[in-house]
Amino acid sequence: MFSKKSSRSSVATVTAQPTIISRDQHTVSRKQISSNALKVLYRLNTGGYKAYLVGGGVRDILMGTAPKDFDIATDATPEQIKALFRNCRLIGRRFRLAHIVFGRDIIEVATFRGHHQNASEKEQSCQKTSKQNDEGMLLRDNIYGSIEEDAERRDFTINALYYSAIDFTVHDFANGLADIAAKKIRLIGDPETRYREDPVRMLRAIRFATKLDMTISEETKAPIKPLAPLMESIPAARLFEEFLKLFISGKAVANFEQLCEYNLFKYFFPALDEMLNEGQHEFVSDFIQLSMSNTDKRINNDQRVTPAFLFAAMLWYPLQQQIQTVKASAQLSPQDAFFEALGTIMSRQQQSISIPKRFQAVMKDIWILQERLARRDGKRAYKAFEHPKFRAGYDFLLLRAQIEETQGSADNKGSLTELAKWWTDFQNVSIEAQQQMIKTVAVNRSGTSSRRSPRKRRKPSAKPAANTSSDA
Ligand code: ATP
Ligand code: MG
Repeated sequence: MFSKKSSRSSVATVTAQPTIISRDQHTVSRKQISSNALKVLYRLNTGGYKAYLVGGGVRDILMGTAPKDFDIATDATPEQIKALFRNCRLIGRRFRLAHIVFGRDIIEVATFRGHHQNASEKEQSCQKTSKQNDEGMLLRDNIYGSIEEDAERRDFTINALYYSAIDFTVHDFANGLADIAAKKIRLIGDPETRYREDPVRMLRAIRFATKLDMTISEETKAPIKPLAPLMESIPAARLFEEFLKLFISGKAVANFEQLCEYNLFKYFFPALDEMLNEGQHEFVSDFIQLSMSNTDKRINNDQRVTPAFLFAAMLWYPLQQQIQTVKASAQLSPQDAFFEALGTIMSRQQQSISIPKRFQAVMKDIWILQERLARRDGKRAYKAFEHPKFRAGYDFLLLRAQIEETQGSADNKGSLTELAKWWTDFQNVSIEAQQQMIKTVAVNRSGTSSRRSPRKRRKPSAKPAANTSSDA
């Protein structure tokens, strides 16, 4: 089953005998490993099991960066792990894992994965441990094996490095160290088969390339475009998780560009992708890039971000387009047209990425605030200002102003910039000055011909009030 070490240009394979790098030959020190991860490694070892730090925990330290989390691989089964740790939770169906919980810190422990053809007939026939669909996609992957088999089941060579807390050695099964040095993302095994087993690996290749500033090797890169349609089979809940890793990571712009390059972006946001490809909405692409670069900046400055903001940005123009479609086909009030378009856009989006309800509520608030921030007379300005999502709505307005300023029609060009400036000033002046600002708005409004006459006011809509607060 195992072959000699791969030549660098062909498919990467796992060796039966890993290269073992002693402590004085590598840079992984216990100081860089979280004390909780070390506790788990020691407890498994003293319990008589093999246990290694693996994946990003080893890779990132070797590359000189702090790991995002620590993953452990062991020969103990999930039940044996559970018996060792009181703070253990078993999770996952497709991929059964143990979570060792230390308050907010979770150490993920996975039992060594084995090959499907090695599963006993009983295991195969009951299909509880392993299952593939007709396209070769792994629906379940719970067959346990040796450490060598585990290495072979990992995605990239740089992720198949194992660190032992017994003798502090690093075990390199697939020439991962050489690929770290060469800055290459290389799949283990036949790339097409590996992508068919799990199409998320296409996203992971891109994510690691941008995160680690590496290039994807030719044979790992080649099948991505042709196999892009496999993305259809990724469950919407999993795609949400991948969305977070790609876009709430400080590398959103780079990942967006790469996903577009490989035709993968449309599986995240089909309606937006259609607009981007229509070619007549350049500002849409500018808006998306700007919202992503803002998100990246915030993350890189340790500022808080909510995925809801980015979702609201991604779907803002598809929503505007849908509102126009709705208005053209039915005589609806602006509010009714908004809610109908919102329903259509959201239900289409949910088929790709399942956005949790709490984020959907914030997106809706941000969108509704765009209308409410424009109407500032009387008590409206304060009502908008006191809205729990005012800040997000205001930030969104600033973003729109930056883009729309350059592409609005002659009579509305600059009006969003003025509106955004008004709100910036409003937040920075005394209450007396705020009241003066509101009065000025009212005077200006009454002086404009666009003011709606009170007699022509729409009947109140039966839809819920626009200022529903979010639960996020
Ligand atoms: P990071 O945590 O920084 O995103 P990571 O490499 O640790 O990177 P995880 O998603 O935490 O990634 O997974 C831990 C390890 O599990 C990976 O390094 C890889 O060896 C293995 N792995 C994760 N997802 C897959 C997959 N889809 N196919 C094969 N192996 C995988
Ligand atoms: Mg990890």
